Amino acid sequence: MEKDADGFYSPAAPGISGQKEQPAEEADDATDLIKSSFEVSVTLADQQADPNSPLYSAKTFEQLGLHADLLKGIYDMGFSKPSKIQERALPLLLSNPPTNMIGQSQSGTGKTAAFVLTMLSRVDFTKNKTQALCLAPSRELARQIMSVVVAMGKFTPVQTEYAIKDSLPKGASRVSAQVVVGTPGTMTDLIRRKVIDVSEVKVFVLDEADNMLDQDGLGDQTLRVKNMLPRTGVQIILFSATFPDHVRTFAAKFAPSANKIELQKNDLTVDNIHQFYLDCKNEEHKYDVLVSLYELLTIGQSIIFCQHRHTADRIAQRMTLEGHKVASLHGAKDASERDSIIDSFREGREKVLITTNVIARGIDILQVNMVVNYDLPLLNERDNWGNKSDARPDIETYIHRIGRTGRFGRKGISINFVHDKGTWAHMEQIESATGKHIQRIGTNDLDEMESK
Ligand code: ADP
Ligand code: MG
Repeated sequence: MEKDADGFYSPAAPGISGQKEQPAEEADDATDLIKSSFEVSVTLADQQADPNSPLYSAKTFEQLGLHADLLKGIYDMGFSKPSKIQERALPLLLSNPPTNMIGQSQSGTGKTAAFVLTMLSRVDFTKNKTQALCLAPSRELARQIMSVVVAMGKFTPVQTEYAIKDSLPKGASRVSAQVVVGTPGTMTDLIRRKVIDVSEVKVFVLDEADNMLDQDGLGDQTLRVKNMLPRTGVQIILFSATFPDHVRTFAAKFAPSANKIELQKNDLTVDNIHQFYLDCKNEEHKYDVLVSLYELLTIGQSIIFCQHRHTADRIAQRMTLEGHKVASLHGAKDASERDSIIDSFREGREKVLITTNVIARGIDILQVNMVVNYDLPLLNERDNWGNKSDARPDIETYIHRIGRTGRFGRKGISINFVHDKGTWAHMEQIESATGKHIQRIGTNDLDEMESK
């Protein structure tokens, strides 16, 4: 087996060995790990050789014009070939003069490397000045992106800093790091207070860009950051798996004359995520069903999404009292607690994470092989008088939530809990918007699924 492929897969092997190929009971010692990592690397190689796969590439990283120190970083991370989005986006992103980019590709297909390599390629390491900014919708995602910057930049002298809540020591007066990654509120604050000097910024990246530009959400703050940057000479890079119509126009204004890479509607989700739904009798029955799923949830790792923080807390408390080990994470927890919860989940110390939309986007944990939509994601529509009317499904959030599994070609399962006419109708709308069938599983089939 190739050394680098091996190096890449070995950390993921424990989760994957318990995933589907073999029943968990059989997954014992080293032989099993070797076998499963071998199987997975074959799968990846096959997918990267299939022109229809989003992981396919005709080129090598060498052919994309990257600096030797960055190539070292890439191979050190265990990547052997670019994915489709990397192959298509990088030459456009790295060409001169710099051109803006609006890039779309499915969850788990390697968008981060495309923009991180661009930031690192454009930075002048001899200058101690901030030159690249990256914004993400959550601190968890900002921290993850930073870990990629650090890993890819391992053989460069890059200096980095966070712009997330509580990240700088109190009274810090100056940040000179070349790459700053953060969330929009804190970034705005630090630039305003002149802690970050943006006069030399030449790359501005929005990950989860449709979310970052949403007028009902982070759009205002993101625009504020952009308006403080130099008027010219900043390359604006927007990436997401989804760009719904209502943000496309704004995105095109935000990143004028951009190169565009777009997905067709039926390509929004990847086929390696198998989507299911489960009939529940009512709201209370959902809880019982979740508890009965517990064994299944802990074979690998799983994320349970709820619509509200209090639901996440309530379920987590109840399950804990009943002797199950689960963690819960949402935006009402303080920064240090959020960091330690996501870190222990990432390290596999927690198997089941009950959460809200706060981590619906971007989080990349290879061992997550199951996502449960305890509540389907909803949006509230406002009518002409400004009153909230009927809820409708939040298609984009659904796509991102299920995308927490099935990373870079791995297999994953998502299960929706459907418990009344309303949720049923919402699920049908999701099916038609994504063009993908969601398969029913009966409660009896669960035992069968578990043994599979
Ligand atoms: P996206 O942002 O498109 O959802 P990520 O950038 O988070 O996806 O990448 C998903 C996973 O794929 C990560 O674990 C990343 O390390 C891995 N990955 C990305 N590019 C490659 C590559 N060329 N070869 C192997 N693995 C890759
Ligand atoms: Mg991403």
